[in-house]
Amino acid sequence: MDASWKLRSLTRTGYSNLLVLAAAVTAVAAGILAGLNLLSPVQLPAPLNNDAIPAIFEPEPENPYAALYFYEEDKQERYEAYQAANPDLDADAVVWQVNSGLDGDFYSNIQIVADTTALPLLVNKYYQLPADYVPADLEKLPSGKLATKDTCAAYRAMSADARKAGLSLYAASAYRSYELQNRLYHGYIKQEGGNVAVVDTYSARPGHSEHQTGRAIDLCGSFGSLNDFIRTPESAWVSENCYQYGFIVRYQQDIVPLTGYKYEPWHITYVGIDVARAMRDANITCLEEYIVKYIDHQPPTAV
Ligand SMILES: [Zn+2]
Repeated sequence: MDASWKLRSLTRTGYSNLLVLAAAVTAVAAGILAGLNLLSPVQLPAPLNNDAIPAIFEPEPENPYAALYFYEEDKQERYEAYQAANPDLDADAVVWQVNSGLDGDFYSNIQIVADTTALPLLVNKYYQLPADYVPADLEKLPSGKLATKDTCAAYRAMSADARKAGLSLYAASAYRSYELQNRLYHGYIKQEGGNVAVVDTYSARPGHSEHQTGRAIDLCGSFGSLNDFIRTPESAWVSENCYQYGFIVRYQQDIVPLTGYKYEPWHITYVGIDVARAMRDANITCLEEYIVKYIDHQPPTAV
């Protein structure tokens, strides 16, 4: 045996030792894998595909609603459902409208107004006044109609300034009791041949009328009806100036689907000067939107 054979023999021995070691490692690994599979049926791992790999590392899609300060976490599913039903709405509109209950049908999920002294006082197709609610401080407007003390004072100031501008306002209707609203509403239903859906676009169901709050006034010019009011210079003046006295035109043209009432340029509601001015500054025409964004939630203060 020469030295070179010995070297080749050693090399061969080393190589075969490596093979033995590799086989042993494989066997142990297989044993472990088999052990792991003992508790569950043998499953082949799902083949990896190119789509599956990045999905594991993708961040959660951003929630467009959660970024808004008036977002309410418990309404997330309702936001998504409302968005699906109204794909053209942006996240801001989805959130405040759902917060207002607009994802439910009108006259569903009705709540009784808890604090009738609140300013602004929200009465709509979801919020109902108690049948026996009568404002405590009703006074007479110049036309003889009744309204709350603050509403009367604001109206007098507005009416005086309108007169200075050569205009004349007349309060055709203001406070109406629950009973009167009930009679009116059912009278309209009779007139419309039982068509409740039509009546609901212009007359509130009893308990749901702002007129029962004593803070709503229907205006007409000196002559003419409510329907003619839009064609008077008084209407344009009121629309432009009523906020200075604490009134808003409550049922505006651009929010008909949100209020559920047709455009009523004659119907003004006393909400107080601060609120009326803030709504104008924020370019908000819908009282429900203002309440979500400035009363139920407050915007983060500007730095
Ligand atoms: Zn009215």
